[in-house]
Amino acid sequence: MTSYSEKATSTMFKAIVVEKDESGYRAGLKEVDESALPAGDVTVRVAYSTINYKDGLAITGKGPVVRKFPLHAGIDFAGTVEASDDARFKPGDKVVLNGWGVGESHSGGLAQKARVKADWLMPLPAGLTERQAMAIGTAGYTAMLCVLALQRHGLTPASGDILVTGANGGVGSVAITLLAQLGFRVAASTGRLQEADYLKSLGAADIIARDELSGPGKPLGKERWAGVVDSVGSHTLVNACAGTRYGGAVAACGLAQGMDFPATVAPFILRGITLYGVDSVVAPQAVRRAAWDRLAIDLDLDRLEAITHEIGLGEALQAGADILAGRIRGRVVVNVNR
Ligand code: NDP
Repeated sequence: MTSYSEKATSTMFKAIVVEKDESGYRAGLKEVDESALPAGDVTVRVAYSTINYKDGLAITGKGPVVRKFPLHAGIDFAGTVEASDDARFKPGDKVVLNGWGVGESHSGGLAQKARVKADWLMPLPAGLTERQAMAIGTAGYTAMLCVLALQRHGLTPASGDILVTGANGGVGSVAITLLAQLGFRVAASTGRLQEADYLKSLGAADIIARDELSGPGKPLGKERWAGVVDSVGSHTLVNACAGTRYGGAVAACGLAQGMDFPATVAPFILRGITLYGVDSVVAPQAVRRAAWDRLAIDLDLDRLEAITHEIGLGEALQAGADILAGRIRGRVVVNVNR
């Protein structure tokens, strides 16, 4: 039988808590009580979370992503259902969550426990462990959404090269890995040329220096790529569009360089290219399940492990600052119980 004192301590758990008050904005590792969890139908014992770019913004306060205080950071998690008021989930089920405002306006996965709406949860895809699901995380799932957009457009390896920008980042690393495995020839654009061997080990054929694309360019350039996965935005996205072949497609999901899009309509009206916007946060369940199912089948798990670095919950604070400073390569998985 559980003693009173065991019961009392078992309601406490660790979380990265983001707070904002008269003394300022801060994030810290804290011991919190289960009563701090928000309302929701399902309580999950979190096993792993990750550090995405948005988590970096939430932890450092460098971007206005957190809209409720105090809040547990972490836009995604994988874990086991502890309690459920919803017939779709029962204690012991393994689940994954990405987005839905978790880690922004609802306490999230950089914590040992989370309580969320059942509608936001997905069963852990068959063939993936909780750790692998979070090594993929929101960044990897978004990379898959981008690849699916290009494939739906009709692009195949015979169409031509695919450009991946922000190549060393989470979205970029997974996109290169997926595209190379699907047989595409990939050009990787990076500000870290010293990581060229890493990018080639993922399957990149060409390495392009970031500054070739990151400054103001011409409305139309040489037709270099059949498709693009862009996690960078700003001039890079503009130049990526200007260098896309007639009838090609660009999947835009990020803003690591900037939110602006200082473009002309030339690539759209003279080359008929298509720009697909990719959102992972409120993507319908059918869309996300399709992406996760493809990840479970297509992604080489040995390669995933090679781009993954594991840290403990307390190290998430430093990793949040590191991802914004461009010091993280590939994916960081957070073992919240370490
Ligand atoms: P990472 O920080 O892991 O990757 C971003 C990469 O972009 C960096 O590694 C770096 O690659 C490159 N980069 C960084 N700063 C600049 C700059 N100033 N100019 C040009 N390139 C730069 O982040 P993620 O991969 O997790 O996310 C990437 C972007 O995608 C973010 O903006 C994020 O918010 C967005 N995102 C959007 C989602 C959606 O639902 N639409 C979901 C997930 C992410 P290198 O060193 O190789 O140049």
